[in-house]
Amino acid sequence: MFTSFSPNMLKIYQTCPKKFYYKYIAGVNVPQSSRPFEKGKKIHALANYFLQGVNISRIETALTDEEKEVWQKLLNNNYFKKDALKSEYQLSCKVAGFWVGGRLDAVVHDYEDYYILDYKTGAIPQNPQYDYQTMVYLLALDKMLKNYNSLSFVYIDLKNDKNHVIKFDDELKNEYEKRLTAICTEITNDTLYKLNCDSCKRCEYAKYCSD
Ligand code: SF4
Repeated sequence: MFTSFSPNMLKIYQTCPKKFYYKYIAGVNVPQSSRPFEKGKKIHALANYFLQGVNISRIETALTDEEKEVWQKLLNNNYFKKDALKSEYQLSCKVAGFWVGGRLDAVVHDYEDYYILDYKTGAIPQNPQYDYQTMVYLLALDKMLKNYNSLSFVYIDLKNDKNHVIKFDDELKNEYEKRLTAICTEITNDTLYKLNCDSCKRCEYAKYCSD
């Protein structure tokens, strides 16, 4: 039924199968407040222009003081200073017959050492090593690059000016393939889309569940 699973689809299904049903099967669109995402969106757009070599001096002058501070933290980040290979890049791979993929923020490198960057203006995931975004992008880039010295996923925590680095290896590769196969199989076979009432706080579909 689905041609490809994005990390967000997998995360929503894990949070609540019913929410997944509303969003991706019934196609119920619920407007969300964009305010919390505005700062993150601007920084991502600016980072993309910057890595592509676009002159961003005019855009920089339009940033608020808070945005300038965040942007400066990213510019000073040692991973962001490495050579850019890709920015805002769409990639996918097949895991046990299921396509998984999405758009990552950037890939940078030091010769044959590669790093997937994810800029966070809010919180980084609670379990970053097994976040679907981490698993999908590392597996997809591993398949794309084929030959490299090392491959890592770096969450750049701009709020706390810290990096969280996950180094990819064969053990993680097997575990990621196992976990992604399990959830894609579960979604594909699901017909009930059960409610998970532990996750209703701030859920934009709460109105539909209470009807
Ligand atoms: S309100 Fe709760 S049960 Fe309903 S979709 Fe949202 S998270 Fe799931």
